[in-house]
Amino acid sequence: MSQHKVLIIGAGPAAYTAALYTGRAQLAPLIMAGPKAGGQLMWTTDVENYPGFPEGIEGPKLMMSMMKQAERFGAELRYDYVTAVDFTQRPFRAWTNSAGDKTAEEIVTAKPEEYSEFRSEIIKAEPALTADSVILATGATSIMVGVPGEQELMGKGVSTCAVCDAAFFKEKETFVIGGGDSAMEEALALTKFAKSVTIIHRRDEFRASKIMQDRVLKHEKVKVLWNTELKEVRGETGVTEIVIDEAGTEKVLPAEGVFIAIGHRPSTGILRDQVALDDHGYVVTRQSATAAGVEAAQAALGEEGKVAFPSMTSVEGVFAGGDNVDIRYKQAVTAAGQGCSAALDVERWLESQE
Ligand code: NAP
Repeated sequence: MSQHKVLIIGAGPAAYTAALYTGRAQLAPLIMAGPKAGGQLMWTTDVENYPGFPEGIEGPKLMMSMMKQAERFGAELRYDYVTAVDFTQRPFRAWTNSAGDKTAEEIVTAKPEEYSEFRSEIIKAEPALTADSVILATGATSIMVGVPGEQELMGKGVSTCAVCDAAFFKEKETFVIGGGDSAMEEALALTKFAKSVTIIHRRDEFRASKIMQDRVLKHEKVKVLWNTELKEVRGETGVTEIVIDEAGTEKVLPAEGVFIAIGHRPSTGILRDQVALDDHGYVVTRQSATAAGVEAAQAALGEEGKVAFPSMTSVEGVFAGGDNVDIRYKQAVTAAGQGCSAALDVERWLESQE
């Protein structure tokens, strides 16, 4: 069992930025990155909206650079999943072992009711490590439709972020899957570049807010296929067509871009019952853009009218930043910024404990 001043769980822009800052503060952070270190940007080709790279940079390259920069300042990186945490006592405890015949990946992505069973098994073992403070930077994943071709053509015409990738679809025939606010946003982002934007929605009305619906429905470039489901994405090196089921009739349509916008799932399964999460599973901090966040901020308001340790979760000493907190922006640069805030809060909080 090893003991650390700062444990960072996650391995995306928030985690690496938190590691860079706590490393430079001589706190020798441990990053528990998981075997797929790098987060969502590992699935992205060119990143053109991360400041400092006028020609753009490939997602995996950006993440490797962030990782190396953190390591240069003393961050230690381990490629294990954290499969359970205990924040009820200090130092905080974390486990990396699995339970029964389940892999660590199956455990961290398990449904809540299954996870609680795994957890009771996991914590029978000695914890792998303990820490004085924790930064939760576990990120989020886009929910996928689960049809053939979707995963295989990811980054080759299939995308989950039009804000990031729309510019690569100039004058192309694009489709957006979903009927919520994310789908509306994706469609509007695409209208600036694409030749056509067709929203495919499984029902006959959108779930999105009225104002977003109005903007989309009024836009001359946007068409909607109601009561329609995506069945397959086809192509070899890039998307060439999609198969849809339109009110019971199967059709093949030419397509060059497919944007999946049916929601995000924060990767917070192991945190349930350990820190406050909102109804969608996002970690609540004092800077969360939700009613729960406003309430937490109010409770932490100091005499000078400033919120103490804005990135702190419901547990003193446990902080969070990035897409597992962020219900709204979900950009690499905002995640990096939140990782920075969490690291600065940790540094000050640890000093306050001396
Ligand atoms: P959401 O509100 O949960 O909407 C998901 C959409 O995807 C729904 O229309 C749903 O269809 C559809 N869907 C779900 N699973 C599907 C499947 N397997 N196949 C096909 N379609 C499927 O998610 P979201 O749009 O990401 O928004 C999440 C939250 O963030 C919301 O509270 C939203 O208001 C907020 N948000 C706000 C903004 C903004 O204010 N500008 C922007 C983005 C997100 P059904 O409707 O049939 O269930």
